[in-house]
Amino acid sequence: MMRYANVIVDISHEAVDRPFTYIIPDELVMRCHPGTRVKIPFGKGNSSRLGYILELKDHPDVPVVKLKEIQEIVLSQDATESRLIELAYYIKEQFGSTMIDALKLVLPAKKEYRVRKSAVNAQTLTENIEDTYSEIILNDEQRAVVDDFTDEYDRGVRNTYLLFGITGSGKTEVYIELIRHVVESGRQAIMLIPEIGLTYQTVRRFKRYFGDRVAIMNSKLAAGERYAYYEQAKKREIDVIIGPRSALFTPFPDIGMIIMDEEHEGTYKSETMPRYHARDVAIKLASMHGGSVLLGSATPSVESYYHALAGDYKLYRLTHRATGAKLPEVEIVDLRAELKAGNRTMFSQRLQALLEETVGNGQQAMLFINRRGYAGFISCRACGKVIKCPHCDVSLSEHRSTGTLVCHYCGYETEKPKVCPECGSKYIMSFKAGTEQIEEGVKKMLPGVRTLRMDGDTTGRKDSAGAILAAFGRHEADVLIGTQMIVKGHDFPGVTLVGVLAADIGLGSGDYRAGERTFELLTQAAGRAGRGDMAGRVVIQTYQPEHYGIVHAAVQDYEGFYEEEIAYRDIGGYPPIKKIMAVLISDKDNDRAYLCAMNLAGLCQANNRGSQIIGPGKAGIGRINDNYRYVFYIKCDERKILTELKDIMEEWIEKNRDSDAIASKVAFDPEPMNPF
Ligand code: ADP
Ligand code: ZN
Ligand code: ZN
Repeated sequence: MMRYANVIVDISHEAVDRPFTYIIPDELVMRCHPGTRVKIPFGKGNSSRLGYILELKDHPDVPVVKLKEIQEIVLSQDATESRLIELAYYIKEQFGSTMIDALKLVLPAKKEYRVRKSAVNAQTLTENIEDTYSEIILNDEQRAVVDDFTDEYDRGVRNTYLLFGITGSGKTEVYIELIRHVVESGRQAIMLIPEIGLTYQTVRRFKRYFGDRVAIMNSKLAAGERYAYYEQAKKREIDVIIGPRSALFTPFPDIGMIIMDEEHEGTYKSETMPRYHARDVAIKLASMHGGSVLLGSATPSVESYYHALAGDYKLYRLTHRATGAKLPEVEIVDLRAELKAGNRTMFSQRLQALLEETVGNGQQAMLFINRRGYAGFISCRACGKVIKCPHCDVSLSEHRSTGTLVCHYCGYETEKPKVCPECGSKYIMSFKAGTEQIEEGVKKMLPGVRTLRMDGDTTGRKDSAGAILAAFGRHEADVLIGTQMIVKGHDFPGVTLVGVLAADIGLGSGDYRAGERTFELLTQAAGRAGRGDMAGRVVIQTYQPEHYGIVHAAVQDYEGFYEEEIAYRDIGGYPPIKKIMAVLISDKDNDRAYLCAMNLAGLCQANNRGSQIIGPGKAGIGRINDNYRYVFYIKCDERKILTELKDIMEEWIEKNRDSDAIASKVAFDPEPMNPF
């Protein structure tokens, strides 16, 4: 009989991040399982704390006389949860979080909720959307992918697949066929979508095939609603869940496949603890269940493509648009030339002319501004020069408080130049244009034009993003203006013009992924144009028309882009070639924080095993709550070495801690590079 339980206490602090053993009282023995939430006496005063049972034991690791008893059960769990606990342990180890944070992620707290039919949710999403497609027959390329996958699946082969299919190549149809196959074999499937990538068309197609057996989870679901879906999943009342990265923790008993659409999306990486990446967790989870993973994208992440070329993932390709529509014609407009010609507006002559023509013809346009890396990056309006770190080959960022330029990698700091060091122009500044200014500009240019705007400000309300997109889909506006959120996967046949206002803004984000992000966004944005019967046109405005991310995006040449990008990563020692760990040290005392960071960096240097230590320098936010913050980086070939260095540092901090104020945090392959 299991009479002892190892319990993780619900305190998010490294010092108590280990299991404590408790006696299970007789009356609770039958109800305690891994995952059960319990109340326990803890600490000197034996005050009541919450915790999770991690494992049951028939013999304790410590003398029984020292043990205390579990006080009560707060929430029972059953066997499904023990797998999720294993997953939590993986997340703790891989992403450097505490166990309790990992457990809270995978085992959501129960909230009472009336079980609402999942269909209701999807219906509101699809209301008033015209059914623009009829029952589709897979084309040869799609068929080949489905046949190969199902053949392997039936033979018991489990794999990670990368489906590299250009925009509009019909990936969703492939997803549906694969999921159908897995569900028909009696197992369940998880379909991950980026935060706001869920389109009406997608929901509708899934509903058509899976009816009430599919649940759609959006990120704005109340905790109770989410829990209701989880209960349905556990009871096998649904077979498929579609949702953002947290849908991974749906307690399905037998997961046959996990699909990750738009796998390159940044939203798959959590920005709060635990900083997990859904791709890694999906692959781990699938392997625990004996399932397969399929990653899909028109612009695969450099990481995934690297793995595919290395043979770690099996690569599938879709090279044609499924509807037969042509890829749009893309023009690059040099904004430096516009300035020379005296045009100081946000719209080039060419974009103005095409906008006028498009709206005049009763067609639709999308204007898009990349807000990623909006703050801080400095470039010359006259020659396009970006001010870079002399040591790291990434752009410097403007520090608002000091007015200096800093490197987020190595801490290099310099005065902001008054004129361009390249051409002497005084137009050296960060690009300031928001969606509101663009909307005003469009209205001034085309009186009477009907516009819709979509950005962080307009999408606060529940479902308002959906409402804006639906209105645009019904052609209630001529021009949709927005941030990157408008380019994700939406399929508007009426759109024949896409304008990107300042393509290189993202290039200045001071991040080694900037080129990749820019290429991705431009390719995806271009993919929005001409999806219907009419040909599409795309205008990319930029100060750096020769940048490889922009050049290759214009001709939709992923491989060409990848080759240059991977060479840059290789030279710079960035992922996926090298693995990176960012370490943050903070303390109320500035000197002590810096000294500790120096000591730890030195310790890592002494144990480096071939790794390279960079920094320390000031963190992105140098001080929070009067805590001074320093960051340094470790680069090496193997993830394992980073984990070992992390353990060495933790041990050192434990021994040398002379202040409670000192705190450390780590992030692996951080995104953004300076995540703190
Ligand atoms: P992707 O996700 O690859 O960008 P979608 O799955 O959204 O592409 O498909 C793009 C369009 O092509 C959709 O309108 C879809 O209905 C249509 N489509 C997909 N497969 C086929 C096919 N085999 N025959 C005709 N149209 C198709
Ligand atoms: Zn210049
Ligand atoms: Zn630097």
